[in-house]
Amino acid sequence: MHYQPQRDLLHHHIILVTGASDGIGREAALTYSRYGASVILLGRNEEKLRAVAQRIAEEGGTPASWFTLDLLSCTPQECQQLAQKIAVHYPRLDGVLHNAGLLGDVAPMREQKPEVWQQVMQVNVNGTFMLTQALLPLLLKSDAGSLVFTSSSVGRQGRAHWGAYAASKFATEGMMQVLAEEYQHSPLRVNCINPGGTRTAMRASAFPQEDPSKLKTPADIMPLYLWLMGDDSRRKTGMTFDAQPGRKPGISQ
Ligand code: NDP
Repeated sequence: MHYQPQRDLLHHHIILVTGASDGIGREAALTYSRYGASVILLGRNEEKLRAVAQRIAEEGGTPASWFTLDLLSCTPQECQQLAQKIAVHYPRLDGVLHNAGLLGDVAPMREQKPEVWQQVMQVNVNGTFMLTQALLPLLLKSDAGSLVFTSSSVGRQGRAHWGAYAASKFATEGMMQVLAEEYQHSPLRVNCINPGGTRTAMRASAFPQEDPSKLKTPADIMPLYLWLMGDDSRRKTGMTFDAQPGRKPGISQ
């Protein structure tokens, strides 16, 4: 995507990023901060989140807050408590990037382990849903809130061996569409990003034989992440976007 954002694109924006400890989420948090946002980091690993907050401080960004929430085990009550803690420090949320995700088994459907299937659904769908419910009141306090889910090419077209992950990403697209329609007359917009093959730990575990140098880095795909959080995308809702338009799904040669 060719997009040249203004340096102050996200000034006065408060943006929460899940899975901010690593990969694409870490890069998105750093990028939003560089464009002026006040960033709230969510993840399950305190040490890694602290390191991202530290990096933001070293770069001179607005000090970031971080909170731990394990999407695998979280309850609706925990999500509500988290939202209450956030509300003590922040008047609203202008953006939420649901980025945390679990890959699970890459194997034929008949070999998918039921317990791993449930974990993938728990992190990618159920936990993400519970957190969304808890954060909606804060998002609706913004006069231009942006709720962004993370999808995948296998969330639009099923592919052999992608089992639970593909099903969870179809569910993610569905959740986005339902919410977009429910809030179509509000200032809140709801969309999906498909990052496309990107050089991260998750990608390496899905395609161990792939040469990572053939892949875009998280930094390369940030233009779409910025556009969807800033005012330039204000009228877009209920849509699913590719961070690497034209890229063929599957292994990079
Ligand atoms: P990574 O594995 O590099 O990062 C995943 C992030 O999610 C980490 O911050 C991780 O935390 C967090 N996370 C995982 N499980 C939980 C949990 N139970 N509770 C809270 N946080 C959790 O993955 P990517 O950066 O590659 O993926 C980011 C998103 O992009 C995912 O939704 C993925 O499905 C999607 N995607 C990625 C593609 C790619 O090629 N990379 C392609 C298409 C979609 P921790 O640091 O503690 O492990």
